[in-house]
Amino acid sequence: MQTDAIFEALYLDPGRLREGDRTIRSPIDGQPIARLTDTDSSGVDTAIGRAAAAFQVWRKVPAPRRGELVRRFGEELRNHKESLGALVTLEAGKIVQEGLGEVQEMIDICDFAVGLSRQLYGLTIASERPGHRMAETWHPLGVVGIISAFNFPVAVWSWNVTLALVCGNATVWKPSEKTPLTALACQALLRRAMAGIEEAPDGLSEVLIGDATVGERLVDDDRVALLSATGSTAMGRAVGPRVARRFGRSLLELGGNNAVIVTPSADLELALRAIVFGAVGTAGQRCTTTRRLFVHADIAEPLLERLRLAWGGVRIGDPRAPDTLVGPLIDQAAFEQMQVVLEQLRAEGARVYGGERVMPDGLAGGWYVTPALVDRRGVADNVHQETFAPILHVFDYRTLDEAIERHNAVPQGLSSAIFTNDVREAERFLSATGSDCGIANVNIGTSGAEIGGAFGGEKETGGGRESGSDAWKAYMRRQTATVNYSRELPLAQGIRFDME
Ligand code: NAD
Repeated sequence: MQTDAIFEALYLDPGRLREGDRTIRSPIDGQPIARLTDTDSSGVDTAIGRAAAAFQVWRKVPAPRRGELVRRFGEELRNHKESLGALVTLEAGKIVQEGLGEVQEMIDICDFAVGLSRQLYGLTIASERPGHRMAETWHPLGVVGIISAFNFPVAVWSWNVTLALVCGNATVWKPSEKTPLTALACQALLRRAMAGIEEAPDGLSEVLIGDATVGERLVDDDRVALLSATGSTAMGRAVGPRVARRFGRSLLELGGNNAVIVTPSADLELALRAIVFGAVGTAGQRCTTTRRLFVHADIAEPLLERLRLAWGGVRIGDPRAPDTLVGPLIDQAAFEQMQVVLEQLRAEGARVYGGERVMPDGLAGGWYVTPALVDRRGVADNVHQETFAPILHVFDYRTLDEAIERHNAVPQGLSSAIFTNDVREAERFLSATGSDCGIANVNIGTSGAEIGGAFGGEKETGGGRESGSDAWKAYMRRQTATVNYSRELPLAQGIRFDME
């Protein structure tokens, strides 16, 4: 599909996308695809004001009716899956399958949220006082601010907006400055869904264009009850305390440093496929990308040999081509950062395979690399920082205790996996003394989570949970309500307070 055809299929006027100061480039070839105008401070103020007003109306709409809006949005996504997937590919450089996969994830979370709109369960709690009833109820929260990263330009927003909407909130979204077009397309699709729901007020979903400066205005605004921010740990370190200073709530989804442990009993074919997808898929630009590999010393050499072969055979190139497995890095800065890290590793004595720039025909302005495999056995025993590029660090280990200890000895705690056919090893990995991550898998790689589970991680990954399970509770306020239907006034804890 040509760029203008993609825009038009998603109700974006190509003429209006050529007017601003901010140039949006496709990572495929580095060429400009649009020009947008940043939202200025009064625009941010207006957008948050509109969302705050919309919340006053939306919170009164019954939750199943709110779910109907999300159901319609899911229909729009089904009808526009190809074109929205193509825009993700164009703007974020993801291969076709991954662009479509992101839209499928949006459809899946819509389905989940529609079901949720008839649940949002509270509790009835046994009261210690006679003639009393105690309950816990969940109410809409307010305006939810959403800040998102370039690497999941649409799915992460959809996790937030669908739950926020069924929970009765209005939202204001500041997408990555690298991927604002997908945000405008999502907004257009959501507005089409809103047109079919007369109770849906105009300001229910707002989009802000710009970089961290625009994000900061959202972060600091008292009218934003919950700030859900996805991105680097550096971003979370800046944003978290600012929201806390005004006693706002934050939900942080930050960087990962995910590892796979391969034990001697593992099915190596399974492990190999999962490691390759986890480490090189999305050009290593997933928060859940496999970055560290701990292999038992007895099987390290044969597994490494297979990995080297696999690394050499990965098809790198135009993400629009159906057989490409690895597309471009997001930009030149990402490439340079990767090279700095590889240079340090070589200086340290690690054996580095791959990591060189590739220039596919006609795409010289894109930043393509061969994935890097770094054999650090005997040189180092861990890596503590996330580099957002396809670099897999390989270490060996002798005992499972040692592997788990090194696995956990990093600041991040997002995703983890063990490959084993030994039930003791598997259960140990999932136990209180096993992986310390928010996501722990057995015989599945670190990336590609399903929306039904709560998604997020511990430590510097931020502690937030989004998507499935009971993650919706973050988007509501909890109220404990006690009703006295007796003629007495017994006090809790048996306290007597007799008046004459
Ligand atoms: P980034 O931190 O550079 O930017 C993320 C977003 O935060 C952007 O919209 C940016 O404009 C905004 N931002 C940055 N600083 C800000 C500030 N001080 N105040 C307000 N807004 C600010 O991240 P990126 O390069 O777009 O994405 C890659 C990172 O995101 C990686 O670290 C990756 O692991 C992480 N990530 C995490 C998850 C998760 O769910 N845990 C998911 C996707 C990406």
